[in-house]
Amino acid sequence: MGVPKTMGKKERHVLIIGGGVVGLCAANYALQAGMRVTLWEREPEGGDNCSLGNAGMVVPSHFIPLAAPGMIAKGLRWMFDPQSPFFIRPRLSPALMRWAWLFYRHANARHVEQCRQLLLDLNMQSRALFAGLAEKNDFALQQRGLLMLCRTQQGLDEEAEVAEMAHKIGGRAEILDARATAAKDPAITMDVTGSVWFPDDCHLNPAMFSRVLRRLVRDAGGEIHHGTVLEKLEVKNGRVQAAYERGNRHEVDQLLVAGGSWSAEILRDLGMNLPLQAGKGYSLSMESPPQLPGLCSIFCEAKIAVTPMEGCLRFAGTMEVGGLSLAIDPQRVKGIIKSVQPYFPAFAEQDFAAIRPWAGLRPVSPDGMPYVGWAPHQENVLIATGHAMMGLSLAPVTGKIIADLAAGRNCGFELARMQPSRF
Ligand SMILES: Cc1cc2nc3c(=O)[nH]c(=O)nc-3n(C[C@H](O)[C@H](O)[C@H](O)COP(=O)(O)OP(=O)(O)OC[C@H]3O[C@@H](n4cnc5c(N)ncnc54)[C@H](O)[C@@H]3O)c2cc1C
Repeated sequence: MGVPKTMGKKERHVLIIGGGVVGLCAANYALQAGMRVTLWEREPEGGDNCSLGNAGMVVPSHFIPLAAPGMIAKGLRWMFDPQSPFFIRPRLSPALMRWAWLFYRHANARHVEQCRQLLLDLNMQSRALFAGLAEKNDFALQQRGLLMLCRTQQGLDEEAEVAEMAHKIGGRAEILDARATAAKDPAITMDVTGSVWFPDDCHLNPAMFSRVLRRLVRDAGGEIHHGTVLEKLEVKNGRVQAAYERGNRHEVDQLLVAGGSWSAEILRDLGMNLPLQAGKGYSLSMESPPQLPGLCSIFCEAKIAVTPMEGCLRFAGTMEVGGLSLAIDPQRVKGIIKSVQPYFPAFAEQDFAAIRPWAGLRPVSPDGMPYVGWAPHQENVLIATGHAMMGLSLAPVTGKIIADLAAGRNCGFELARMQPSRF
């Protein structure tokens, strides 16, 4: 691999670290903005990352950040249940302690109020970008909405509050009783008290979406180098001057760090202490489900996402904050499987017997807002990570914002709440 072809030419060149959905979207929109792009991805072509096996949901419904009231109490309760959907593996790690403290500080109503409009606007803009991309590319985008399924009256009451909040900020949501829920998706038998329907949510096949992005990037002249690990960055005069892979030095014009859960490690080299934890989640993809719903849904009490993907049905869940290991905890997987039948009675635990669980590491910020913007100490470094459960959903709008910033254009969003240096 040679020095990026742009060196010595007038066009701006951006070197992107990370070929997940965020890095690929940024590459796509940077090319559209007239920049030249090189992307380094550690995994070989066809390798895995968090962007491939996820639930594939585009979620304007998710305008409440992860750090929200009630999360601490719920989290503490779940900590003692090995099959629960949320778990923090206790470690003597100053980075984890700082992250947990920041999470605690932000889990309040004021923070939700400050973030919800921005999260809705970002998700809606991303949705429009997905729809635009789907006009000429197939990644199985289905614009049919999402059902938040509630088994209990308490769950439904809580979701109804979310629906009310959505109305206040211009989002669309409809509260449905059990009969109206069944009518929304007659293909699946559900045992629920009711649901909230978010008509603007969508679902897609995330692996197909990444494939489409790689093709778009290459067709537009971008270079994607798989099996290429960023080893070291050279900094001088407040700029990253060069990046190294396999001992080779490459001059840098602009750098984007989109390394998912590994972004904090990369940024440590630049003297930045980014609060970021990996939140492991699992998915189970059933090839021949007993019933195939037409809509995607979330089991509210169990926190499991369910997505039909071209004949197959994917169940996804758990948030295990426990370092960068992808090891599969069979108890958590069991927790996912056990929660299905109560909502979808046509399913049995043995339907999952032959399924190999997939695991991915979500990059999780402590306040539930992504990191999108310039690095604090170097003038030519951009950061895009920390999207947690919304990385797919927010990838197009993130890519667009990054391209605007790199090209020196106004992105149209208030960036303070996403500023990487905000803590
Ligand atoms: C079970 C589960 C379900 C989910 N469901 C949804 C959903 O329905 N909707 C949604 O919006 N989000 C969902 N998410 C979250 C979403 O998948 C992530 O937020 C998103 O994939 C993060 O994308 P990324 O590009 O930031 O990171 P990644 O996909 O992790 O990509 C980062 C890449 O950087 C590379 N890298 C790291 N360090 C280096 C280096 N030094 N050199 C070169 N390359 C490097 C890595 O190899 C990796 O490929 C889910 C996640 C999980 C686990």
